[in-house]
Amino acid sequence: MAKRDYYEILGLDRNANTSEIKRAYRKLAMKYHPDKNKDDPDAEEKFKEASEAYEVLGDEKKRSLYDQYGHAGVDSQFGTGGFQWSDFTHATDFSDIFENLFSGNGFFSSIFGDSFTGFGTRRRRAAVNRGEDLKISLSLTLEEINTGVTKKIKVNTKTECEKCRGTGSADGRISTCPQCGGAGQVRQVRQSFFGQMSTITTCPTCNGKGTIIRNRCAACYGEGRITSVKTVKINIPAGIADGQYLKLRGQGNAGKQGGPAGDILVFIKEKRHDIFERDGQDLICKFPITITKAVLGGTLEVPTLQKHIKMKLPPGTQTGKVFRLKSQGLPYLNSTRKGNLFIKITVVIPADLSKAERELYKKLEPFDEKRNLKPGKTFFEKIKEYFV
Ligand SMILES: [Zn+2]
Ligand SMILES: [Zn+2]
Repeated sequence: MAKRDYYEILGLDRNANTSEIKRAYRKLAMKYHPDKNKDDPDAEEKFKEASEAYEVLGDEKKRSLYDQYGHAGVDSQFGTGGFQWSDFTHATDFSDIFENLFSGNGFFSSIFGDSFTGFGTRRRRAAVNRGEDLKISLSLTLEEINTGVTKKIKVNTKTECEKCRGTGSADGRISTCPQCGGAGQVRQVRQSFFGQMSTITTCPTCNGKGTIIRNRCAACYGEGRITSVKTVKINIPAGIADGQYLKLRGQGNAGKQGGPAGDILVFIKEKRHDIFERDGQDLICKFPITITKAVLGGTLEVPTLQKHIKMKLPPGTQTGKVFRLKSQGLPYLNSTRKGNLFIKITVVIPADLSKAERELYKKLEPFDEKRNLKPGKTFFEKIKEYFV
């Protein structure tokens, strides 16, 4: 049987505009709707024929191919068996018509088969099914930050259900959502003062996934993943700082029903150090020295994060004096560069003198009195003077 002309099927002339085409199709689709024609075996065929015509004429590109070359121009768009329901991309545009078809009576599932995954919205559905990101916090010592470290920690997570291989389906079959036809969204068209208004909302039946599972896996209740504890290995680079985080891609919760996994975000916390304060990649250490050391100078053994090193102390070092030890601080991330270590001197005045010591200090006293120290202004007083 020769294929009928698409315009003829829809009862239109060749100049029909988009809304006329849409209206004509809607009228026919309602007329030959399988729900209304249970006793008419031809109706289903006519419904399909009209849908094929609309699939072509409702699409600018396909329509212009058809206008130029006739059926030969568009037949290649469909499979070898010609137009099938799975070629129909407009079901969501006519959700009021197609919704009924999906519900209960199995019209569409019998046509599409359970393996049919719907009207081409895979990408968005995958995002809906993506597993959650997990946030964990990890406390590190400055020593660990200095060298970098590998940690193994246990995380409560959701992993792929082995029983159903993550599909959530006991028999491996996943069906197109009957309400949205796989789109994950439903469009509602209503008349308003301004004309037709259409709103799109997430499909309530499948929560936007586009698929439903009729025979749920008993092990995971259809979710495709189960709660478990897994050990993750975290390589922490040297030089990381408090508040920074590492992303372990794909190590978070497994996706629902085979969706992509989320990530683990590892937030770094820095433990307080007994000796060092951190300022960026620099370290600051308050270092107490005795009066004699301050006066006479000499060599100090100062700590770094790895070992003690020797530092020359000049004679006459005042309290508050800061010495910089180059490149003895923390490494910069992904770099061979290192921060500095600052040694801040505090001269400690002895308060527990022995008799012998006291006598020695007494002997020093007349020398000190000749030094004639004068009071000075503080830094803030000098600033005030400047602004008067
Ligand atoms: Zn399962
Ligand atoms: Zn749905």
